[in-house]
Amino acid sequence: MNEYIEREAKYGARNYAPVHVVVDHAKDCLVWDVDGREYIDMMSAYSAVSHGHLHPRIVAAAHRQLAKVAVTSRAYFGTTLGPFLEKLSQVTGFERALPMNTGAEAVETAIKLARRWGNRVKGVFDGKQEILVARGNFHGRTSTIVSFSSEDSYRDGFGPLATGFRHFDYGDMDSIRAATTANTCAVLLEPIQGEAGVLVPPAGFFKELREWCTANDILLVDDEVQAGLGRTGKWFAFEHEGIRPDVLILGKALGAGVLPVSAVCADAKVMDVFTPNSHGSTFGGNALAAAVALEGLKVLEEEKLVERSAELGEHLIERLRDVQVEARPLIRDVRGRGLWVGVDIDPRYATARELVEALAANGVLSKETHETVIRFAPPLTITREMIDRAVDIFRKVAMEKAA
Ligand code: PMP
Repeated sequence: MNEYIEREAKYGARNYAPVHVVVDHAKDCLVWDVDGREYIDMMSAYSAVSHGHLHPRIVAAAHRQLAKVAVTSRAYFGTTLGPFLEKLSQVTGFERALPMNTGAEAVETAIKLARRWGNRVKGVFDGKQEILVARGNFHGRTSTIVSFSSEDSYRDGFGPLATGFRHFDYGDMDSIRAATTANTCAVLLEPIQGEAGVLVPPAGFFKELREWCTANDILLVDDEVQAGLGRTGKWFAFEHEGIRPDVLILGKALGAGVLPVSAVCADAKVMDVFTPNSHGSTFGGNALAAAVALEGLKVLEEEKLVERSAELGEHLIERLRDVQVEARPLIRDVRGRGLWVGVDIDPRYATARELVEALAANGVLSKETHETVIRFAPPLTITREMIDRAVDIFRKVAMEKAA
């Protein structure tokens, strides 16, 4: 095992601090390391593996496409992109989508879209558009995106920084009203703040935000890279809030656990500010990615994985709340929606990282965010029995730390 860790450390850039597990192979909700030890995957690659690892239908769709063509760039039309975009439109309710690869790329795309819309449609002078972003946000790691990250370490030493962003307090409408100016073209935010620690917004916030955006001609840009496609127990997290954003950003699970696929979705009146040559990506919407993503959407629908996320998410939260009571005062809070749960640890007893390493040593993969929160976000294909097994292991580890 150490041999692989050493090679990564020696030849790789030092920008990560991975948990000490060397993954060799995986199937559905289980992962095996190079020594043959089995783990329950309660992390699913930050929600990228919502369909479970190597879902047979996704793998079969990839193989079918690999027998035909994988990449042609968007210089030509293809046979898989149209069907994928049509299906995406059907599930999201938005007229058009622009496919990209990673989440950060899709966020960058949405920023360009909002600015051009501000410039061309709303009529804010070019260069003056402002986008409101939340404190505690996470939208990716490009130089523009980290410019408005609330995390100092993401920005540290990477200046000069991009301008045109103003901050508000997540969930606080007064703060949004105060940050809005005549130059505001968009509000960009997560429907639940994932990296900040799975923070669910206060009830009614999104409704008020929607009204504010409509009244002030501001685009509501909803980053569901992590929350979208069933993670929260609905197809899209905005459904919990009873609103519809103007721009929806998807990623992670859109690639069905095998490829990077992201997309920005919007109606034509917004999306059509993009004209030929105004934006693009060599790999965005490639034939293989589109085939995989289309099959991924069908699997979510036909295997009822969204409903499953809602039902089993409730069970997971309930079971973790039982552990919270038993392992008092180690656990301060258990929160989340669907199969996306944050467990907030009191740092006086343990760091989240210590618990994550102890869980890994006992056969459960999870990941900490910040010092105090452990994230559980298993594949949506997980069974009740497997959740119970993982929670039993968490209980054992938590009781040891609480003692
Ligand atoms: N937006 C959100 C809400 C995310 O959670 C993430 C990744 N954690 C991203 C964007 C960036 O996605 P990627 O890592 O694929 O660039």
